[in-house]
Amino acid sequence: MRLVVVGASLAGLRAVEAARRAGHTGEIVLVGAEEHLPYDRPPLSKAYLDADSDGEATVFRDEASFRDELDVDVRLGVAATGLDIEGRTLHLGEDSLDYDALVIATGASPRPFPGADELVGVAALRSLDDARTIRTALDQQQRIVVIGAGLIGSEVAAAARKRDLPITVVEAADLPLTRSIGPDAGLACAELHRAMGVDLRLGTGVDALESEDGRVTGVRLSDGQVLPADLVVAATGVLPSTAWLAGSGVTLHERDGGIVTDAALKAADGVWAAGDVLHTRLENWTAAASQGAAAAKHAIGEDPTDWDDVAFFWSDWYDRRIQMLGTADADEVRVIHPGDTGDDVARGFLALYRRGDHVVGALSIDRPRDIMKFRRRIADAGAWDEAVAFAVERVGLAS
Ligand SMILES: Cc1cc2nc3c(=O)[nH]c(=O)nc-3n(C[C@H](O)[C@H](O)[C@H](O)COP(=O)(O)OP(=O)(O)OC[C@H]3O[C@@H](n4cnc5c(N)ncnc54)[C@H](O)[C@@H]3O)c2cc1C
Repeated sequence: MRLVVVGASLAGLRAVEAARRAGHTGEIVLVGAEEHLPYDRPPLSKAYLDADSDGEATVFRDEASFRDELDVDVRLGVAATGLDIEGRTLHLGEDSLDYDALVIATGASPRPFPGADELVGVAALRSLDDARTIRTALDQQQRIVVIGAGLIGSEVAAAARKRDLPITVVEAADLPLTRSIGPDAGLACAELHRAMGVDLRLGTGVDALESEDGRVTGVRLSDGQVLPADLVVAATGVLPSTAWLAGSGVTLHERDGGIVTDAALKAADGVWAAGDVLHTRLENWTAAASQGAAAAKHAIGEDPTDWDDVAFFWSDWYDRRIQMLGTADADEVRVIHPGDTGDDVARGFLALYRRGDHVVGALSIDRPRDIMKFRRRIADAGAWDEAVAFAVERVGLAS
């Protein structure tokens, strides 16, 4: 039985590893559009942007290990261009590849920013090549404006401040990250940015990119001000990479084009999908990894009993680690600890999220050990009162 995995990044990698670990002895082919072996994306907006980083990607495995340990046929620089579900054939431009089971892990791509296509000096941050562009601009102390105060925009801002460079972040919403962490934690994040010297423009849209001779020169804001820029980083979110599936019969969600699957990640006959390519994507590392493994196990007829379904992400800003477990989609947010002040601003922040009588989420800033204590309670939708009492006792503050 031939298993083909398309998309050679985190979800695709975990898919091929899980298939072998589960005892699949048939052929496995991993197809990826990038020329690079699968590499880890989170460091690209963190350590990779540091002045003293070695400029190399963090690859998960080398070529020899794919060949000798996993016996996986890795085909890089090859993009899937179409899919024939009935014929069980993946189209790769002029070529094609037959499969018995297919896992789609083509991830997501930066949402196109209006006017950016025609201009030099506008970057997103998704790939190693993007990270190189931003790092070069930081090395050359260029004027950088970031559009979007989400996780990636915020990490780029932190990287600039770490080098003591001025940086402006423009965000249309009134607070950063409200959808993923809620307003209370968003406020703590805004205070942290400002304390670290970021020029944070909240509630401010972008009217247009200014340019001269095809090169960006600035960002015109909704309040009429123009921010001069040598590089604009458009960190305004991603869309699933599914254009190649148009007309294939795989159901794509009408709003974002993400793949629609059933609970077992099955997208169509013989086809499973995982990671950021899904309509229900969480856009975090842990989900992409565990879904990749789960999709492959379903694809080879195994039961993925170890599927971890508590959402989790982290983000590193300055020397602080933000961690979120579960969901911020809640009836109430209880700030257990508002975080320290002064040089330690925001450090120690802890909030819990309630839906009905249950705890459904937790967010912390620089409390890696404390937050993990809530994992089980969130997985089991534990009692809210008990979770709050436990949190108050643990962090030593009355709420
Ligand atoms: C800069 C950055 C920082 C991040 N930091 C964090 C963090 O701190 N914490 C956290 O939890 N998460 C973080 N994430 C999110 C996490 O890295 C992603 O959720 C994860 O990479 C998704 O994995 P994926 O395999 O589903 O998709 P992707 O990583 O997007 O990979 C998809 C792969 O498929 C390839 N592909 C696309 N189309 C085709 C095609 N037609 N044919 C063949 N190949 C194709 C792409 O080239 C790509 O290599 C970060 C992401 C980025 C970009």
